[in-house]
Amino acid sequence: LVFEALSGRLSGVFDGLAKRGALSEADVMEAMREVRLAMLDADVALPVVKDFVNKVRERAVGQEVLDSISPGQAVAKIVNDALIDALGGAGAVPLNLSAVPPVPVLMVGLQGSGKTTTSGKLALRLRERDRKKVLLASLDTQRPAAQLQLAQLATQAGVVSLPIVAGQTPVEIARRAMETGRREGYDVVILDTAGRLSIDEALMDEVRQIRDVVNPAETLLVVDAMTGQDAVNTAKSFNEAVGVSGVVMTRMDGDARGGAALSMKAITGAPIKLTGSGEKLDALEEFHPERVAGRILGLGDIAGLVEKAADTLDHEEGERLAKRMMAGKFDLDDYASQIRQINKLGSISGILGMLPGMGKIKEAIGDKDLDQSILKRHLAIISSMTKGERRAPSIIKASRKKRIAAGSGTTVQDVNKLLKQFDMMSSMMKRFNKLGVKGLMRQGMS
Ligand code: GDP
Repeated sequence: LVFEALSGRLSGVFDGLAKRGALSEADVMEAMREVRLAMLDADVALPVVKDFVNKVRERAVGQEVLDSISPGQAVAKIVNDALIDALGGAGAVPLNLSAVPPVPVLMVGLQGSGKTTTSGKLALRLRERDRKKVLLASLDTQRPAAQLQLAQLATQAGVVSLPIVAGQTPVEIARRAMETGRREGYDVVILDTAGRLSIDEALMDEVRQIRDVVNPAETLLVVDAMTGQDAVNTAKSFNEAVGVSGVVMTRMDGDARGGAALSMKAITGAPIKLTGSGEKLDALEEFHPERVAGRILGLGDIAGLVEKAADTLDHEEGERLAKRMMAGKFDLDDYASQIRQINKLGSISGILGMLPGMGKIKEAIGDKDLDQSILKRHLAIISSMTKGERRAPSIIKASRKKRIAAGSGTTVQDVNKLLKQFDMMSSMMKRFNKLGVKGLMRQGMS
């Protein structure tokens, strides 16, 4: 995942500081040297690193910090604040769609950055979350299949795409899109422009012409996080040439080192507004600098996790399962349902990455044990059981185990593991039930 290496190294630095108790100025300077190297290795732009380290050093060597009760934590807090600053300041910068409808949103970027996919993602998001009536229009007359690709994405996103008229120029299509938007009462018109392999004057000219025709409320530049500093340079050029109101950074699901995200605001002045984290249309997130900083420092992103869960999970089913747990009636059918819900959330290691301190736990037990395939195997085993077995797993003895293993393409050992784990879960639930909700909270707090 993005930031993983940086996160590991920074956590290491602060664990080291925290262990010391008292800190001298020299300790802080040494830690800052390590922070500097970690950021450079993460491909953060040099001027940004310099500025960052200077700011932190200035604040961290003060007597107040050095004399505080836990200086290591005080320094970590200063670094956290500086990270938030570098990422663009606290709070997500929302899209500005307050103009008179139809509000034009111009999507720009290099070819392959994920621009067309992001247009589809944005359309879906505006339709679902903001209840907007969205029109998608491809102005890409360069790539023959581009307009068709966008039309397909529109169908997937449940929005309308502008009918394709052969032979029109990008500017003509833009005019027609806005006219259609006005005539048919659309709230937002998303205009997907043609990309190029690299920045060239012809591309900028075309974007400028379109911009002057539609007067966009947002000009969103799509960049690929995997291209590192090139993404920042691209953003700088686009911003100077056509003006960019926000950046969408895609492929945050890959193993980009993260330097582009940390350099973007300082170098280009344009805030990152959204990030893409997958090929599917729902893989678009708001960019919250304070949450990202928290993840980099291993503090977790509970707010992001809760939001994600609220968006994806089936609440009624969740409540039903919770009631069954409380009543001590949780059986293997319920467990299977729970696995299906977890699967909906996406990759397990992605979820764990959002929990505080999980980076270290993951390291300790090894990623392979958190693999989704374990849950898949559990589902297969459970579906090879009879209804009676799922209700009362205690009746599953040797011969039943053999049958279940054969039916699910697993081994008796696998079946045993599942049953043992389910047993542990059940006894934990019983303990929780005895404690009651208040007891649980107390246990969680301590
Ligand atoms: P365009 O040329 O800029 O319009 O790029 P496309 O939208 O056609 O995207 C190029 C490829 O990148 C497609 O295969 C997309 O599915 C993929 N892609 C786009 N955004 C993301 C993302 O956030 N994560 C991942 N993993 N792939 C993405």
